[in-house]
Amino acid sequence: MLCFHRKRKYICKKKTPINIPMMKNILLIALLFALPVSAQIRIHADFPGGNIQVEKMQNDTVWLKPDLRDTQGFWFYWYFAVNRAKGKSIVFKLPNDCFTRAGVAVSTDGGDNWKWEQPEAFHSRSFSYTFTSNREVRFAFAIPYTQSNWDQFTAAYRKDPNFKFSTLTKTKKGREVEMLTISQPSGTPEVKVLFTARHHACEMTANFVMEGIIEAIANDNWLKENVEFRFIPFVDKDGVEDGDQGKNRHPWDHNRDYSENSIHETTSAIKKHIPAWIEGQKNVVLDLHCPYSHSGQNDSIFFVGSKEKKMEAKQLRLSEWVKINNKSELIYDPTCFAYYGAKPWTLLGTDKERMKMATWAGKLKGNILREVLKCLMAYMASNWLRPRMHEHSDMTLQPVCATI
Ligand SMILES: [Zn+2]
Repeated sequence: MLCFHRKRKYICKKKTPINIPMMKNILLIALLFALPVSAQIRIHADFPGGNIQVEKMQNDTVWLKPDLRDTQGFWFYWYFAVNRAKGKSIVFKLPNDCFTRAGVAVSTDGGDNWKWEQPEAFHSRSFSYTFTSNREVRFAFAIPYTQSNWDQFTAAYRKDPNFKFSTLTKTKKGREVEMLTISQPSGTPEVKVLFTARHHACEMTANFVMEGIIEAIANDNWLKENVEFRFIPFVDKDGVEDGDQGKNRHPWDHNRDYSENSIHETTSAIKKHIPAWIEGQKNVVLDLHCPYSHSGQNDSIFFVGSKEKKMEAKQLRLSEWVKINNKSELIYDPTCFAYYGAKPWTLLGTDKERMKMATWAGKLKGNILREVLKCLMAYMASNWLRPRMHEHSDMTLQPVCATI
């Protein structure tokens, strides 16, 4: 017979007849009743961009938090999947600031299609979901974007003679860093325009904006003839695929890697190859980012002002152009412009700290405009779907071209 003594479990030496199959059944049944519901489901982040830490599961409630990895301080990115949960209604709880006002991004087809649900999660810091089958359901802070999305989007342009696909460099983990150059082979571009995204791995909305810009260029012959465009969609490629926050990495992140002694492969490659590509020609550099998760300026689309007054004047002109030319459903309010020094974060990385990409771009020979555009993580409308994000691009492309 089995005997238990406080924390120590032992089997009594006294031999008694035991019906082994019956005991197994009793134990299995006891275990099934003893297990919390949440222990029977699978919560994981085993896919590109995945990120989650399960802190605790109790009855039908799961406490989660973002996996910070090498990020110093708090950041808010998470993206996880749930399998084998048919018939269960589960409450997922996350820490403060882990939701946008749009609520939760949900996919029931392995991440191909997404919809915003439960905007109330922004206030309650939790959401519940009733699983109707054992199929995987994915939940994310915002709509994810990884290499597979880029591959899918660019497939239509692979045979276009104006599109040249290449590799900028390889990352520490051996991944290729994509680079796309668009120009007409017979054209004579007088201006070169560089777009970069994902200096901070978790800022996925920037890639949807980049898609829209590429679509607009593809449909504009004048642009292709007179301007040469280059796109680097994933500066922190390892972070994007591994699902890192990427922000405030230790000892510094990709957007603080433009001083001497760069430690990240992509930023080293940008510093080496982009000046050679530009060859001193007139150039514009637009670095796409996303702001904090929510509130105030972070619920808007805004530009980040330069320390240099001349450059700031150009940026403000660009901002006004966006306002005038905005034909999309998205609201652009020029008063959200982030003036240098207006907020403490606008000062970071400019003087005492390590150099940002935009500051480095300002030192490029021929640079006439460098800009950081902060694309909001989530639009306020709960039914905002992926295709609508492309409309965002009209707001950046036209004024940029007008400026140059
Ligand atoms: Zn950023």
